[in-house]
Amino acid sequence: SPSIVWFRKDRRLSDHPALHAAIDRGGPIILLYILESDTGRAHGGANGVWLHHSLGELKADIENRGGRLILRAGAAAAVIDAVIKETGADAVFWNRRYFKPDRDRDAQIKDTLTARGLSVESFKGNLLVEPWEVKTKTGTPYRVFTPFWRAAKDGLEVADPLPAPTTLDGFDGALASDDLDGWGLLPTRPDWGSKMLDYHTPGEAAAQARLADFLDGPIEDYAEGRDRPDKDLTSRLSPHLAHGEISPRQIWDACKDNETTSYKFLSEIGWREFSYSLLFYNPELATKNFNPNYEAMAWDHDDQAFEAWTTGQTGYPFVDAGMRQLWATGWMHNRVRMVVASFLIKHLMIDWRDGEDWFWDTLLEADLASNAASWQWVAGTGADAAPYFRVFNPFGQGEKFDPNGDYVRQWVPELAALPNKYLQQPWTAPDDVLDKSGIELGRDYPEPIVDHKEARERVLAAYKAARAGN
Ligand code: FAD
Repeated sequence: SPSIVWFRKDRRLSDHPALHAAIDRGGPIILLYILESDTGRAHGGANGVWLHHSLGELKADIENRGGRLILRAGAAAAVIDAVIKETGADAVFWNRRYFKPDRDRDAQIKDTLTARGLSVESFKGNLLVEPWEVKTKTGTPYRVFTPFWRAAKDGLEVADPLPAPTTLDGFDGALASDDLDGWGLLPTRPDWGSKMLDYHTPGEAAAQARLADFLDGPIEDYAEGRDRPDKDLTSRLSPHLAHGEISPRQIWDACKDNETTSYKFLSEIGWREFSYSLLFYNPELATKNFNPNYEAMAWDHDDQAFEAWTTGQTGYPFVDAGMRQLWATGWMHNRVRMVVASFLIKHLMIDWRDGEDWFWDTLLEADLASNAASWQWVAGTGADAAPYFRVFNPFGQGEKFDPNGDYVRQWVPELAALPNKYLQQPWTAPDDVLDKSGIELGRDYPEPIVDHKEARERVLAAYKAARAGN
């Protein structure tokens, strides 16, 4: 009888344990993707763009091997039930996910089908370590990254990644599949999605090519250069990982022979694992302060300031460059993410959840675990958080990590003619320098919307009050 392989955020054919299990079982395989209607938080806009193209690639990769990807929309339990009735499938396989509402739904489906005599199996396909595999000596989950990753790596035995099948034994009978274009994942009026794809290529083949290119050069300078947004020294694998077009095991395997060079890079993969562990044990990671003291924080609800932040018009060039890079490309360099997030939370005193939500909608790789954990980290409200009193200096960070101003000049071109000395702080430029550069502050580029020193004092006082329970 046929087996169903339910694809979720694991849209690849290589190193896909659920697919592998179905192939080992023998018989026809129904390759199914469900646009789930009963999940709590709908995917963000940019994420949907990637999803569309990612499914297109998966579909083509499957067809090239003689199979067929079945697309259905609806509540997962009902869709799977219908497919079982239409095909007589008696086994269902999937790779695990880690957000509690998803897990509860999966468990319910598993229980119902098992009770009906079907064989249902789930696998570890999206993490190196399952959250329950890494615990402290007293059996509690880790709250701090370094000991988490040390413990995770200590016991880690990573099996060789599984190869992609060369052929797929598809299901012969008629089986309806939705038209991907009909799902409306792509924005049309206006089409802001296509321009993002000038910078990235979705799909499994592109993910493997990206990893190979990264390992072929940039990784050598990664430990030193990963904080430089003006250089292309990070892997940019995040959308591929978030959508499961490459597995962390494949990355681990490709790096394992060069432990010294890849140490720092693999520890970032470790941050992803840690974020998933946090989300697994704290399903409200995206909505509640990990440290409850901060629920008392008096956030400012300033729509105008929020809009200046989202549109890259704060008057701080490094922050604005980041927000414009995000808007144009659906991705932002990690160092700049930390600075823009800190700016929103600490300079504008806007709730980190508003920033998390903006990133959720604009990042191609928006990921519940990594996004929420990172926002809470920057806010200082998280598990293993940056201390609340660490307020990134938005121009100091630019001077340090974009020393020649290439990054700011790329994304804030109206300031391109300013000499480096003033580029990160245009408001300090003498009038004749501004004149010579053809820039009038307030006309061509905004004055800073908040004063750095005053903002810093204001937020420190607010944090102290929240911590003291005032
Ligand atoms: P590399 O430096 O090449 O790292 C390799 C991989 O490790 C990344 O692809 C990613 O999967 C993982 N990784 C790296 N840093 C982190 C981190 N701090 N936390 C978790 N995983 C990490 N990452 C997401 O994948 N999705 C998000 O929604 C997301 N939101 C973020 C929000 C904020 C406020 C911040 C500060 C960071 C966020 N990150 C998120 C983490 C990080 O910024 C990106 O993973 C990274 O910039 C992606 O670029 P890269 O692939 O070139 O990274």
